[in-house]
Amino acid sequence: MIPIAKPYLTAEDAQAAYDTILTGWITQGPRVQEFEEKFAAYTGAKYAVAVSNCTTALHLSMIVAGIGEGDEVICPSMSYIATANSIKYVGATPVFAEVNQEYNLDPTDVEKRINSNTKAILLVHQIGMPADIDAIKKICSRYNLKLIEDAACAVGSAYKGQKIGSHSELVCFSFHPRKIISTGDGGMITTSRKDYYDRLRLLRQHGMSINDRVRHNSKKVIFEDHIEVGYNYRMTDIQASVGIKQLEKLDWIVTERRKIANKYHEALKNIEGIRLPLERERYFSNYQSYSIYLEKSFPINRNRFMQELLDNEIATRRGIMNSHRETAYKHLEDKVNLPVSEKLQDRSVLLPLYVPMIEEDVKFIIDTILKLTQLKTV
Ligand SMILES: *Cc1c(COP(=O)(O)O)cnc(C)c1O
Repeated sequence: MIPIAKPYLTAEDAQAAYDTILTGWITQGPRVQEFEEKFAAYTGAKYAVAVSNCTTALHLSMIVAGIGEGDEVICPSMSYIATANSIKYVGATPVFAEVNQEYNLDPTDVEKRINSNTKAILLVHQIGMPADIDAIKKICSRYNLKLIEDAACAVGSAYKGQKIGSHSELVCFSFHPRKIISTGDGGMITTSRKDYYDRLRLLRQHGMSINDRVRHNSKKVIFEDHIEVGYNYRMTDIQASVGIKQLEKLDWIVTERRKIANKYHEALKNIEGIRLPLERERYFSNYQSYSIYLEKSFPINRNRFMQELLDNEIATRRGIMNSHRETAYKHLEDKVNLPVSEKLQDRSVLLPLYVPMIEEDVKFIIDTILKLTQLKTV
């Protein structure tokens, strides 16, 4: 069976976790600090704050951006449900906007959904393909809105020559095993603002004025205060030590992923009825997933396509979900009209892509798809 995805974890990563455990300092401490510094340096961001996952990263970003009760935040419905949930956590309302063919927010549609309650735009770099940050930024400055980037899938991707993480005030990453590098679970927020940096670090640890590392190293007796109601959104030092090693491999992983994506592209680019991912000029994707779109002209429908591949022991997944179609957001369904997002969900298929993926497997997947193109419509 060829799986859809697999994290790339090595003995070196395991050794790092092992070594950290034996130091006796296993939750947020020196390794978390080192991971943050290295992550900021990698992305070109001013500051980085490690947290327990990308969902909590998004939640804290909403808080520091000042989003709350009665506010509206524009985001794509077509995204993992954590995107919309993070808006609900602060009592605000997600307003779903349409996406383009690259599964990313369509700036023209976004602008149509702005009203006097709109406070922010939460853009998503879907499956690693950068969204048009500059176009969304322009809208934000025209209407005085906050911008938050959901870059859960986009570590290692770049936009106009700069790594994702360096473009705006709040960018949230995930280290879930389904993403490009993993710490089991884990998240990171990069920010360009010192005030956000300070508050994010407070909020992830119950609003505690002095962190454990500082207190531990202090030669004077010092007492902490809890300045505001915060959360336990800490990353552990065990996770961070794995993250440090994963980060060293990131560029190589992205290069390898792009080679596989390129093989799919070359083999499938002239096939009638299949639309491939489009990487525009000065956009650089880490190919967290490789999604193809089956047009009406393709001989078989999407579900049959997935079944045929499964019968050949090739795992696939359907296109990215639409949050407004999930039970938790069904009450919004009547109010939204998102034909592009829905069609993309219904007609897209994610193909297997992970590192390392053996040459024969890629070839077998391509050959199997090519055979399906020979089927006559039934
Ligand atoms: C995976 C994902 C998340 C959630 O990340 P976690 O680290 O699992 O909380 C949020 N947004 C998008 C777009 C994702 O793909």
